[in-house]
Amino acid sequence: MTFRFDNSYARDLEGFYVDWPAAPVPAPRLLRLNRPLAEELGLDPDLLEREGAEIFSGRCLPEGAHPLAQVYAGHQFGGFSPQLGDGRALLIGEITDRAGRRRDLQLKGSGRTPFSRGADGKAALGPVLREYLVGEAMHGLGIPTTRALAAVTTGEPLLRQEGERPGAILTRVAASHIRVGTFQFFAARSDIDRVRRLADYAIARHYPELASAPEPYLAFYEAVAEAQAQLVARWMLVGFIHGVMNTDNMTISGETIDYGPCAFMEGYDPGTVFSSIDLQGRYAYGNQPFILAWNLARLGEALLPLLDADAVRAADKANSVLETVGARYQGHWMAGMRAKLGLAGAEEGDAQLAEDLLEAMRGQRADWTLTFRRLADAVTDAGTLRPLFRDAAALEAWLPRWRARLAPDAAERMRATNPIYIARNHRVEEALAAAHAGDLAPFDRLLEVLADPFSERADRELFAVPAPEGFDDSYRTF
Ligand code: AMP
Ligand code: MG
Ligand code: MG
Repeated sequence: MTFRFDNSYARDLEGFYVDWPAAPVPAPRLLRLNRPLAEELGLDPDLLEREGAEIFSGRCLPEGAHPLAQVYAGHQFGGFSPQLGDGRALLIGEITDRAGRRRDLQLKGSGRTPFSRGADGKAALGPVLREYLVGEAMHGLGIPTTRALAAVTTGEPLLRQEGERPGAILTRVAASHIRVGTFQFFAARSDIDRVRRLADYAIARHYPELASAPEPYLAFYEAVAEAQAQLVARWMLVGFIHGVMNTDNMTISGETIDYGPCAFMEGYDPGTVFSSIDLQGRYAYGNQPFILAWNLARLGEALLPLLDADAVRAADKANSVLETVGARYQGHWMAGMRAKLGLAGAEEGDAQLAEDLLEAMRGQRADWTLTFRRLADAVTDAGTLRPLFRDAAALEAWLPRWRARLAPDAAERMRATNPIYIARNHRVEEALAAAHAGDLAPFDRLLEVLADPFSERADRELFAVPAPEGFDDSYRTF
């Protein structure tokens, strides 16, 4: 099988990684191959079905691969870790997809590296399949994301808190794996030359038009702020909770990365958290826009020496970008919310109209996804919407105000924007439990549904149903 590797990271960024091989695995088996993605990458899915176990376990990498572990640092839950890096992942190389885009191929769960910090460097089947499912769900929703190309089991049992679990490796495809934390790693060491080289590389790879800007590094900072603001707005609009927005999990490309304790919110509650280690709710649903700005402030700090030789002027420049983050986020969120609500044009009171709907949902445990989906019916008749609320009085008062603002073809447009199917937690758990017992049918079925989240179908009715009452209250993804 020919992968036409062109490994720019390995070539251009010596000192930003260590060459490292995948650990041997006893009995690799290809569990799932993402055939449409393989096609998109210009790879032959039939060949990959045959050779995938060897390739995606890292046992026999294709010619031209250059396996390496990337270094990075990061703020984890607010505290700075100067040394993180790929502790259980390897970049194996870059290929150009059919559309001409450079894409990273990474193995996740491929064994210990110099950055493993005492952990085993492996990944268990459950989290690998969760990342596969949720990433594909995000892709189905049109949200920038890393994607799963393949999942293999390694034949090696892993000891996890829950007991023995099958070992697995995810092959992840990304626009790149450059993170805010990659910049922080070198900034923390006052290695300004490397911060600059990384910025030049990231500009060339992700924002090439900025290379000729009057102040390329400032423009770069602004572009990343814009990409991440847009991304987080899109998360918020679909009720996605990333769960671990550490600076090492925020990409420079603006893709969602690292699906760990993530989940889709069901009943609307800004305080929703699904991670058992997020005791303070730092990464709660409603906090994500603030964390976006906090993380961008950290990127700004890392870039300071590039922005201006004068420290005060550099800080002023960074702040001039940082000050725009709130408005950028709000602009994207509001544009998305207008589409979700089917509004005609844009008016002054739209933000208030949206806020008032959220207020009517709050405390009702009104399902985020279904409320917006059924709002399309409520253009003419609120019969399917009302039962989602325990007490619909506030909703009833709101409906006439909203109807007065509707675009002519609102219902149709709303159904193209508000998904009916999301990766509901109980469905994901059901698919993972079945997979653990050797049955991948529920995983496949869920994947199929999530690939097409906007077209409502009678035979998929069950996938739209929220978890049984109480499920979410105790549900933890990590
Ligand atoms: P995360 O919280 O998933 O973004 O991971 C933070 C850091 O921990 C990264 O540097 C990972 O590579 C590392 N890490 C997570 N799980 C493992 C593991 N099982 N073995 C080694 N390193 C790990
Ligand atoms: Mg991570
Ligand atoms: Mg992770």
